[in-house]
Amino acid sequence: MRHAFVKVVFTIISIFLISGFSGCARLVDTGINNDKIRVIVSIPPQAEFAEKVGGDKVAVTVMVPPGANPHTYEPSPAQLEEVSKAQIYARVGSAGIGSGIEFELAWMDKIININKKMLVVDSSRGVKFVAVNYENGEPVQYNEYDENNKDASNPEGIDPHIWLSPSNAKIMSENIYEGLVNADPENQKYYKGNLDNYLTELEELDEEISRMFAGKENKVIMVFHPTWTYFALDYGIKQMAIEEEGKEPTAEGIKALIDKAREYNIKVIFASPEFSTKSAEAVAGEIGGSVVLVSSLKKNYVENMKKVAMAFAGSMK
Ligand SMILES: [Zn+2]
Repeated sequence: MRHAFVKVVFTIISIFLISGFSGCARLVDTGINNDKIRVIVSIPPQAEFAEKVGGDKVAVTVMVPPGANPHTYEPSPAQLEEVSKAQIYARVGSAGIGSGIEFELAWMDKIININKKMLVVDSSRGVKFVAVNYENGEPVQYNEYDENNKDASNPEGIDPHIWLSPSNAKIMSENIYEGLVNADPENQKYYKGNLDNYLTELEELDEEISRMFAGKENKVIMVFHPTWTYFALDYGIKQMAIEEEGKEPTAEGIKALIDKAREYNIKVIFASPEFSTKSAEAVAGEIGGSVVLVSSLKKNYVENMKKVAMAFAGSMK
């Protein structure tokens, strides 16, 4: 669709050029990029939020590219150059309670220093953060934090993967909307219309996912990197984690996980393309199950969430 449109425009421009209206063609050409609000986001799902709300008035750049691991990624010089030209940076996590993805913990101060005029939007404002304690891979305690709770005693324990709940995605999109209105108040109505449409889309996504898990008796998933905490809380699922505090489990840990998988009648171990699948395969091998890859970092957020939810639901009785 888009390519066809570009082609038509290009053809029209060529016709103008051939007929000698080159001044006109140049106007068409330069009007496009300079007007856009340059928005930087940390991870790909936020790019969908920013593009849905910003529409054709924004140009969005992702810092941690698809397939890269946000816990370890370092930006390229070209990306830092992009930062210096941006009007908005939408971070995932809150600086207030010391949480956030490692990329932001390591780079946010440097990024702000490169471009002090840039508006930094905290996408998580209004989100309830959760810290989970695990015992042998099983969640045993949940603690909630918000921006009023700045004395979080164990900020490292706070789960940064807030975007993986459609209701959190709504809050994040609203925060990005407010940032856009702040940077470009003239187009407030346009952004509001886009926001409302996307919130409806997220509402429908939430309802569709709820229906997928309705009637499931065994709502347990076992994943390598425990990314799906907020998702699991929204839909009443117990998320078992193979990784122990960000590391591969010990041989003893794997043994305990195999017992847990048997206890909960788990047949599928979920892993992600951004992380190692070694211990997921070890557990799956022992229980006669399989490893299924699901990504938490796809840019096509709504579509990917449906896909992952279907994979989770399909693994349950
Ligand atoms: Zn993660």
